[in-house]
Amino acid sequence: MTPEADVIYLDYAATTPVDPAVMRAMNACMGPEGDFGNPGSATHRFGRQAAARVESARAQVASLLSAEPDEIIFTSGATESNNLAVLGIARANADRGRHLVTSRTEHKAVLDPCKRLEKEGFSVTYLTPDHSGRIDPNAVRAALRPDTVLVSIMFANNEVGVLQDVRAIGAVCRERGVAFHTDAAQAVGKIPVDVRELPVDVLSFTGHKLYGPKGAGALYLRRSARPLLQPVTFGGGQERGLRPGTLATHQIVGLGAACDLARELQPAEATRLASLRDRLWHGIAGLGGVHLNGEGAPRLPGILNVSVEGVEGESLVVSLGELAISTGSACNSASAEPSYVLRALGRDTQLAQSSLRFSLGRFTTEADVDVAIAAVNREVRRLRALSPAWNAAAPPWPDRPALSGEAGAPGQDTWIRFHLLVADGVVKDARFQAYGCPHTLAVAEWMAKQLPGRRREALQPGTPADWAKIHSVPTEKLGRLLVVEDAVQACLRHWP
Ligand SMILES: *Cc1c(COP(=O)(O)O)cnc(C)c1O
Repeated sequence: MTPEADVIYLDYAATTPVDPAVMRAMNACMGPEGDFGNPGSATHRFGRQAAARVESARAQVASLLSAEPDEIIFTSGATESNNLAVLGIARANADRGRHLVTSRTEHKAVLDPCKRLEKEGFSVTYLTPDHSGRIDPNAVRAALRPDTVLVSIMFANNEVGVLQDVRAIGAVCRERGVAFHTDAAQAVGKIPVDVRELPVDVLSFTGHKLYGPKGAGALYLRRSARPLLQPVTFGGGQERGLRPGTLATHQIVGLGAACDLARELQPAEATRLASLRDRLWHGIAGLGGVHLNGEGAPRLPGILNVSVEGVEGESLVVSLGELAISTGSACNSASAEPSYVLRALGRDTQLAQSSLRFSLGRFTTEADVDVAIAAVNREVRRLRALSPAWNAAAPPWPDRPALSGEAGAPGQDTWIRFHLLVADGVVKDARFQAYGCPHTLAVAEWMAKQLPGRRREALQPGTPADWAKIHSVPTEKLGRLLVVEDAVQACLRHWP
């Protein structure tokens, strides 16, 4: 593992650094010498200058989308924009109908407001994508009912990068007079998004996915769709009362500057990133047993999501110390289920559990990608060599009196196998194979070192609780160490 300073950032879909040019623009709006005034204070120049900054940022944001400035509402990010769109449109139209259509692969910032509306008496249809991750516009058409008031389908998925056919889905909604919202947090600034030619009524995005600040975002609301939206918060009447609160001048200016840069850089950046993404894919596909998630669908230039047979995602990510990437493995998360997005694409738990998301961005170089390729090849080979999910149970010492014991199984989150070389009633040597989270691998490796020299009566060194203490395994993960214990006990059963 290389020192932290050498870690290559390949997690641009989680967030991006703020572009230095954006930082300079933001800085000019904060200090006593800057435009720090409240944009709502029309009685003095401090307020008027801040208001001018906000309006010029609004024009920059609008310009990136080919929208009109008065169609942009500033928010704190895509989560708030999505909440405002979904809750605001559903509640404003509840007297016309209480049905919504969305998809199972949406971001939680759309799914959770939908769940909230279900508690309020709305019903929601969650469409399942095909195996490539695409929602069929005809499935949207089939889901529409006379009481449908909103369709919300994302522009680009944050895990796999798959692009939806927003044009066709929007056309279906237009034809039936149903409002259409799209979460474009991953799309804006990465691919062309032009609301003049897309039948979209409402669109959400955020600053920190396009080299702007965290805590700044916007909602595009088409003029003709204005009557469809009601606010979800109430206060000083800013943003035409749809999103009240003192405008965060520096954040908004940062968002504007980021949009301005994106407009200029997007075409060349998309070409460059798509080529780096393909280089990365070709560099790791040669390992075999590597699946491209979203294959066959149009995808974002900067995201590559793969599932790697035979290894657990969290263990792979932890061993790839020189890369900052993310995984769909649920190993260390509070939820027990691996990526719901990959499950919706039809991946089984094991492949969802073994997924890696690489997301490339403005500051990624070809050299970075080559380091990533070498590291992934090295660690996948190393972990597969240890993995019972990849290797058959070949005894490591042919022609010697060996025995083995295993616990767990294919498709489970833990699978352990020990091989013991026994002579004169004593373990002479021990090897392990393990598939599972980093804790499981560490305990299995440690166990294989403890076993030599032990006799049948005292084969197992202590209890899973002891091992958890030695390896600082949290109590809620103790179940995995019970599998290690089961594998040791299975060795005893095969001891002659
Ligand atoms: C990041 C993201 C969000 C949330 O945006 P925030 O600005 O962090 O609230 C919503 N949807 C998608 C698709 C995203 O990628």
